[in-house]
Amino acid sequence: MKSFRIVFLSLLLMCLGSGCAINPEKVGGFNLISVDEEKQLGDKFAAEIEKEQKVVNDPEVQAYINRVGQKLLTGVEKVEFPYTFKVVKDDSINAFAIPGGHTYVNTGLIKAADNEDELAAVMAHEINHVVARHSTRQLTQQYGYSLLLQLVLGQNPNMLAQLASQVFGKAGSLYYSRGMESQADYLGVKTMYNAGYNPVGMEKFFKKLQAESQQEPGKLTKFLSSHPLTSERIQSVDAEIAKLPPKSYQPSPTESEFTKIKAKVQKL
Ligand SMILES: [Zn+2]
Repeated sequence: MKSFRIVFLSLLLMCLGSGCAINPEKVGGFNLISVDEEKQLGDKFAAEIEKEQKVVNDPEVQAYINRVGQKLLTGVEKVEFPYTFKVVKDDSINAFAIPGGHTYVNTGLIKAADNEDELAAVMAHEINHVVARHSTRQLTQQYGYSLLLQLVLGQNPNMLAQLASQVFGKAGSLYYSRGMESQADYLGVKTMYNAGYNPVGMEKFFKKLQAESQQEPGKLTKFLSSHPLTSERIQSVDAEIAKLPPKSYQPSPTESEFTKIKAKVQKL
Protein backbone atom coordinates (compact mmCIF):
# COMPACT_ATOMS: atom_id res chain seq x y z
CA MET A 1 0.00 0.00 0.00
CA LYS A 2 2.81 2.32 0.96
CA SER A 3 4.69 1.68 -2.27
CA PHE A 4 1.48 2.28 -4.24
CA ARG A 5 1.18 5.67 -2.57
CA ILE A 6 4.80 6.49 -3.41
CA VAL A 7 4.26 5.53 -7.06
CA PHE A 8 1.11 7.65 -7.18
CA LEU A 9 2.85 10.65 -5.64
CA SER A 10 5.83 10.42 -7.97
CA LEU A 11 3.49 10.17 -10.96
CA LEU A 12 1.65 13.25 -9.74
CA LEU A 13 4.92 15.17 -9.35
CA MET A 14 6.05 14.11 -12.82
CA CYS A 15 2.74 15.35 -14.21
CA LEU A 16 3.04 18.68 -12.48
CA GLY A 17 6.53 19.09 -13.86
CA SER A 18 5.81 18.19 -17.47
CA GLY A 19 2.23 19.44 -17.70
CA CYS A 20 0.93 16.01 -18.68
CA ALA A 21 -2.30 16.80 -16.83
CA ILE A 22 -3.54 18.61 -19.94
CA ASN A 23 -6.12 16.75 -21.96
CA PRO A 24 -5.37 17.95 -25.50
CA GLU A 25 -9.01 17.80 -26.54
CA LYS A 26 -10.26 19.96 -23.71
CA VAL A 27 -9.80 23.68 -24.34
CA GLY A 28 -11.67 25.21 -21.42
CA GLY A 29 -9.45 24.65 -18.39
CA PHE A 30 -9.47 26.50 -15.08
CA ASN A 31 -8.29 30.08 -15.44
CA LEU A 32 -8.32 32.79 -12.76
CA ILE A 33 -8.28 35.53 -15.40
CA SER A 34 -11.67 36.07 -17.06
CA VAL A 35 -12.05 36.31 -20.84
CA ASP A 36 -12.79 40.00 -20.48
CA GLU A 37 -9.72 40.62 -18.32
CA GLU A 38 -7.61 38.70 -20.82
CA LYS A 39 -8.85 40.96 -23.64
CA GLN A 40 -7.90 44.07 -21.65
CA LEU A 41 -4.51 42.65 -20.72
CA GLY A 42 -3.88 41.64 -24.33
CA ASP A 43 -4.65 45.11 -25.66
CA LYS A 44 -2.22 46.63 -23.16
CA PHE A 45 0.53 44.13 -24.02
CA ALA A 46 -0.06 44.70 -27.76
CA ALA A 47 0.46 48.45 -27.36
CA GLU A 48 3.79 47.79 -25.58
CA ILE A 49 4.95 45.19 -28.10
CA GLU A 50 4.23 47.50 -31.01
CA LYS A 51 6.48 50.12 -29.41
CA GLU A 52 9.36 47.63 -29.32
CA GLN A 53 8.82 45.59 -32.49
CA LYS A 54 8.55 47.14 -35.92
CA VAL A 55 5.19 46.34 -37.48
CA VAL A 56 5.71 46.10 -41.25
CA ASN A 57 4.26 49.16 -42.89
CA ASP A 58 2.86 47.53 -46.02
CA PRO A 59 -0.94 47.22 -46.33
CA GLU A 60 -0.68 44.36 -48.84
CA VAL A 61 1.51 42.24 -46.54
CA GLN A 62 -0.74 42.97 -43.56
CA ALA A 63 -3.94 42.22 -45.49
CA TYR A 64 -2.49 38.92 -46.65
CA ILE A 65 -1.46 37.73 -43.17
CA ASN A 66 -4.86 38.76 -41.86
CA ARG A 67 -6.56 36.66 -44.55
CA VAL A 68 -4.51 33.59 -43.60
CA GLY A 69 -5.33 34.19 -39.93
CA GLN A 70 -9.05 34.66 -40.55
CA LYS A 71 -9.15 31.50 -42.66
CA LEU A 72 -7.52 29.55 -39.81
CA LEU A 73 -10.06 30.94 -37.35
CA THR A 74 -12.83 29.20 -39.35
CA GLY A 75 -11.24 25.94 -38.18
CA VAL A 76 -10.79 26.55 -34.43
CA GLU A 77 -12.95 25.14 -31.70
CA LYS A 78 -14.08 28.49 -30.32
CA VAL A 79 -13.37 32.13 -31.05
CA GLU A 80 -13.62 34.09 -27.80
CA PHE A 81 -11.27 36.93 -28.66
CA PRO A 82 -11.04 39.62 -31.36
CA TYR A 83 -7.94 38.19 -33.06
CA THR A 84 -5.54 40.45 -34.94
CA PHE A 85 -2.69 39.30 -37.22
CA LYS A 86 0.35 41.45 -37.96
CA VAL A 87 3.76 40.95 -39.58
CA VAL A 88 6.74 42.29 -37.63
CA LYS A 89 10.16 42.97 -39.12
CA ASP A 90 12.35 40.37 -37.46
CA ASP A 91 14.30 37.78 -39.40
CA SER A 92 14.34 35.07 -36.74
CA ILE A 93 11.93 32.26 -37.58
CA ASN A 94 9.09 32.81 -35.17
CA ALA A 95 5.49 33.75 -34.59
CA PHE A 96 3.87 34.50 -31.27
CA ALA A 97 0.41 35.10 -29.94
CA ILE A 98 -0.23 37.10 -26.81
CA PRO A 99 -3.26 37.09 -24.47
CA GLY A 100 -6.47 38.19 -26.15
CA GLY A 101 -5.52 36.88 -29.60
CA HIS A 102 -3.05 39.46 -30.94
CA THR A 103 -0.86 37.34 -33.20
CA TYR A 104 2.49 38.42 -34.64
CA VAL A 105 4.30 36.74 -37.52
CA ASN A 106 8.01 37.47 -38.03
CA THR A 107 9.29 38.24 -41.52
CA GLY A 108 11.77 35.38 -40.85
CA LEU A 109 8.91 32.87 -40.75
CA ILE A 110 7.49 33.99 -44.10
CA LYS A 111 10.99 33.76 -45.61
CA ALA A 112 11.55 30.25 -44.21
CA ALA A 113 8.19 28.83 -45.32
CA ASP A 114 8.02 27.16 -48.73
CA ASN A 115 4.28 27.55 -49.10
CA GLU A 116 1.19 28.83 -47.35
CA ASP A 117 0.52 25.51 -45.57
CA GLU A 118 3.88 25.81 -43.76
CA LEU A 119 3.21 29.40 -42.74
CA ALA A 120 -0.33 28.48 -41.65
CA ALA A 121 1.04 25.59 -39.57
CA VAL A 122 3.00 27.83 -37.20
CA MET A 123 0.13 30.33 -37.08
CA ALA A 124 -2.34 27.52 -36.28
CA HIS A 125 -0.10 26.39 -33.42
CA GLU A 126 0.10 29.94 -32.01
CA ILE A 127 -3.65 30.63 -32.42
CA ASN A 128 -4.41 27.52 -30.39
CA HIS A 129 -2.25 28.70 -27.48
CA VAL A 130 -4.85 31.52 -27.37
CA VAL A 131 -7.85 29.24 -27.93
CA ALA A 132 -6.77 27.09 -24.97
CA ARG A 133 -5.86 30.27 -23.04
CA HIS A 134 -2.36 29.02 -22.25
CA SER A 135 -0.67 32.41 -21.88
CA THR A 136 -2.87 33.71 -19.07
CA ARG A 137 -2.59 30.37 -17.27
CA GLN A 138 1.18 30.38 -17.62
CA LEU A 139 1.51 34.05 -16.66
CA THR A 140 -0.67 33.53 -13.56
CA GLN A 141 1.53 30.64 -12.54
CA GLN A 142 4.76 32.56 -13.09
CA TYR A 143 3.83 36.01 -11.82
CA GLY A 144 0.74 35.51 -9.65
CA TYR A 145 -2.86 36.55 -10.10
CA SER A 146 -2.66 39.81 -8.14
CA LEU A 147 0.13 41.20 -10.32
CA LEU A 148 -1.78 40.35 -13.51
CA LEU A 149 -4.89 42.00 -12.12
CA GLN A 150 -2.88 45.16 -11.37
CA LEU A 151 -1.76 45.15 -15.01
CA VAL A 152 -5.35 44.70 -16.25
CA LEU A 153 -6.42 47.66 -14.12
CA GLY A 154 -3.53 49.78 -15.42
CA GLN A 155 -2.10 50.17 -11.90
CA ASN A 156 1.46 49.24 -12.74
CA PRO A 157 2.55 50.67 -16.13
CA ASN A 158 6.27 50.14 -15.51
CA MET A 159 5.76 46.49 -14.74
CA LEU A 160 3.53 46.16 -17.81
CA ALA A 161 6.27 47.49 -20.09
CA GLN A 162 8.91 45.35 -18.39
CA LEU A 163 6.85 42.16 -18.60
CA ALA A 164 5.80 42.77 -22.20
CA SER A 165 9.45 43.00 -23.18
CA GLN A 166 10.60 40.15 -20.96
CA VAL A 167 7.91 37.75 -22.07
CA PHE A 168 6.99 38.74 -25.63
CA GLY A 169 9.83 41.05 -26.69
CA LYS A 170 12.61 40.35 -29.16
CA ALA A 171 14.88 38.90 -26.50
CA GLY A 172 12.21 37.33 -24.35
CA SER A 173 9.96 34.35 -24.60
CA LEU A 174 7.09 32.83 -22.70
CA TYR A 175 7.88 29.19 -22.09
CA TYR A 176 4.91 26.87 -22.05
CA SER A 177 4.79 23.44 -20.49
CA ARG A 178 5.29 20.40 -22.68
CA GLY A 179 1.62 19.56 -22.22
CA MET A 180 0.61 22.98 -23.53
CA GLU A 181 2.92 22.63 -26.54
CA SER A 182 1.46 19.24 -27.43
CA GLN A 183 -2.04 20.62 -27.07
CA ALA A 184 -1.24 23.54 -29.41
CA ASP A 185 0.14 21.04 -31.96
CA TYR A 186 -2.87 18.75 -31.55
CA LEU A 187 -5.40 21.57 -31.94
CA GLY A 188 -3.29 23.18 -34.66
CA VAL A 189 -3.49 20.07 -36.85
CA LYS A 190 -7.28 19.99 -36.41
CA THR A 191 -7.56 23.72 -37.15
CA MET A 192 -5.57 23.36 -40.38
CA TYR A 193 -7.68 20.40 -41.48
CA ASN A 194 -10.99 22.15 -40.71
CA ALA A 195 -9.91 25.39 -42.39
CA GLY A 196 -8.82 23.56 -45.57
CA TYR A 197 -5.05 23.70 -45.08
CA ASN A 198 -3.09 20.48 -45.45
CA PRO A 199 -1.74 19.65 -41.95
CA VAL A 200 1.15 17.75 -43.54
CA GLY A 201 2.58 21.28 -43.89
CA MET A 202 3.13 21.27 -40.11
CA GLU A 203 5.03 18.00 -40.15
CA LYS A 204 7.13 19.09 -43.14
CA PHE A 205 7.99 22.45 -41.66
CA PHE A 206 8.91 20.98 -38.26
CA LYS A 207 11.14 18.39 -39.97
CA LYS A 208 12.80 21.07 -42.03
CA LEU A 209 13.57 23.19 -38.96
CA GLN A 210 14.82 20.15 -37.07
CA ALA A 211 17.16 19.18 -39.93
CA GLU A 212 18.47 22.73 -40.21
CA SER A 213 19.17 22.97 -36.50
CA GLN A 214 21.03 19.63 -36.58
CA GLN A 215 23.17 20.78 -39.50
CA GLU A 216 23.94 24.10 -37.91
CA PRO A 217 23.40 23.76 -34.15
CA GLY A 218 24.37 27.39 -33.64
CA LYS A 219 21.51 28.55 -35.82
CA LEU A 220 18.82 27.73 -33.30
CA THR A 221 15.81 29.77 -34.27
CA LYS A 222 13.64 31.52 -31.77
CA PHE A 223 10.75 29.17 -32.50
CA LEU A 224 12.98 26.17 -31.79
CA SER A 225 14.37 27.57 -28.58
CA SER A 226 10.90 28.01 -27.10
CA HIS A 227 9.45 24.97 -28.90
CA PRO A 228 11.94 22.09 -28.76
CA LEU A 229 11.29 19.97 -31.84
CA THR A 230 11.85 16.52 -30.55
CA SER A 231 11.32 13.52 -32.82
CA GLU A 232 8.59 12.49 -30.40
CA ARG A 233 6.75 15.74 -31.06
CA ILE A 234 6.98 15.33 -34.84
CA GLN A 235 5.80 11.73 -34.51
CA SER A 236 2.73 12.83 -32.54
CA VAL A 237 1.82 15.33 -35.27
CA ASP A 238 2.30 12.59 -37.87
CA ALA A 239 0.14 10.12 -35.90
CA GLU A 240 -2.62 12.66 -35.51
CA ILE A 241 -2.66 13.50 -39.22
CA ALA A 242 -2.95 9.77 -39.99
CA LYS A 243 -6.15 9.62 -37.89
CA LEU A 244 -7.92 12.35 -39.87
CA PRO A 245 -10.51 11.32 -42.46
CA PRO A 246 -9.05 11.51 -45.99
CA LYS A 247 -9.60 14.82 -47.69
CA SER A 248 -8.56 16.24 -51.03
CA TYR A 249 -7.04 19.62 -50.33
CA GLN A 250 -7.70 22.32 -52.87
CA PRO A 251 -4.76 24.60 -53.51
CA SER A 252 -5.38 27.72 -51.46
CA PRO A 253 -6.73 30.61 -53.57
CA THR A 254 -4.17 32.78 -51.79
CA GLU A 255 -1.22 30.45 -52.66
CA SER A 256 -0.03 32.58 -55.57
CA GLU A 257 -0.32 35.55 -53.29
CA PHE A 258 2.01 33.77 -50.81
CA THR A 259 4.78 33.74 -53.43
CA LYS A 260 4.24 37.40 -54.17
CA ILE A 261 4.17 38.40 -50.48
CA LYS A 262 7.27 36.29 -49.73
CA ALA A 263 9.15 38.05 -52.53
CA LYS A 264 8.05 41.38 -51.14
CA VAL A 265 9.07 40.46 -47.57
CA GLN A 266 12.50 39.30 -48.82
CA LYS A 267 13.19 42.82 -50.01
CA LEU A 268 12.17 44.56 -46.79
ZN1 LIG B 1 3.96 26.82 -28.73
